[in-house]
Amino acid sequence: MSGSALYETFARAQLAFDHGEGAWLVTASGERYLDFAAGIAVNSLGHSHPHLVAALTEQAGKLWHVSNLYEIPGQRRLGERLVTNSFADKVFFTNSGAEALECAIKTARRYHHVNGRPERHRIVTIEGAFHGRTLATIAAGGQKKYLEGFGPVVEGFDQVPFGDENALKAAITDETAAILVEPVQGEGGIRTVPTELLKTMRRLCDDNGLLLILDEVQCGVGRTGKLFAYEWAGIEPDIMAIAKGIGGGFPLGACLATDEAATGMTAGVHGTTFGGNPLAMAVGNAVLDVVLEPGFLDEVQRKSLLMKQGLAAIVDEFPDVIEAVRGTGLILGLKCKLPNTAVNLAFREQNLLTVPGGDNVVRLLPPLTATDDDIRQAIDRIRSAAAVLADAKADA
Ligand SMILES: *Cc1c(COP(=O)(O)O)cnc(C)c1O
Repeated sequence: MSGSALYETFARAQLAFDHGEGAWLVTASGERYLDFAAGIAVNSLGHSHPHLVAALTEQAGKLWHVSNLYEIPGQRRLGERLVTNSFADKVFFTNSGAEALECAIKTARRYHHVNGRPERHRIVTIEGAFHGRTLATIAAGGQKKYLEGFGPVVEGFDQVPFGDENALKAAITDETAAILVEPVQGEGGIRTVPTELLKTMRRLCDDNGLLLILDEVQCGVGRTGKLFAYEWAGIEPDIMAIAKGIGGGFPLGACLATDEAATGMTAGVHGTTFGGNPLAMAVGNAVLDVVLEPGFLDEVQRKSLLMKQGLAAIVDEFPDVIEAVRGTGLILGLKCKLPNTAVNLAFREQNLLTVPGGDNVVRLLPPLTATDDDIRQAIDRIRSAAAVLADAKADA
């Protein structure tokens, strides 16, 4: 046995935490880290949020799991609330983002199958996308580093370059079922699809009888300052996957669809053992209680401005370290001049946790509940780290 009993699939930091409070993580020895990674956009309400702790512990004392053989009142309620607050008419609950995407892909293929067009099975996806690590979702994402050695690649995904409208049009054939896109690419490096292009995608789907599938696993549930990122573009998808933020740290995902798009998803065609279990539903409902409170999303937008102003000043001061700020709401990215892994490490040395992304970006994904003081402290730490890196570069 080499190292530990665990698969060596994660290059973990030599750092373990004992507990968390809001935007802070604390080690067993009491060292405090400001958590602007938030479990990769998962801890949407920070750590140990009292309302979430109460919801989970209350449910844990009553009932954990019954399976989808029976009615689950919390599931019905969370489904209805998601429907009321989105484009959707129907919801399927999962345990993860990748499973929500699998359901979205199956929903799209099934739609054309029951409408007498079974040849329509292909899905157009965008380069740099990330949709998960199952066999179908690595094929959908199309990133070589995730596909290598796992062949044969699942058939039916056609990738086009980010932001390339002509390539998108050219990729649509008689076999196309859907377009799948993240309104804001997360792992791809916080790349926002321009509003005009999202509108074009919607129109292309309408004109060609295709379904528009959005992956809001990372950018959804308040992260952009609206409940869902698509609201900024004034369009609506036919199918959407969410996960990460909706569980606030409890494993929970969902596939949302219109009645029309979900026509093929009839009794017995899809299923899950754990998806939608009472614990996850209690937490999901508690997350919505907070995110849907009047004013909560306005606060996310205000805090976003505060962060962007602070970050822009750092870009001005240290252009040889960080060249630009990207993103919206509290899904922000620093486009780095130095390797993003080095910048990420320099932040960690200031006890600030962030996440590297594609396109040489460091992602800033604070809890949506981060306070103004948390944000000021993050900005101070980013400036200190940038100064250290700029000095080291000058010495080199
Ligand atoms: C994280 C992520 C996924 C996959 O979610 P898992 O819960 O890891 O399966 C899919 N799409 C996007 C945009 C993500 O950020």
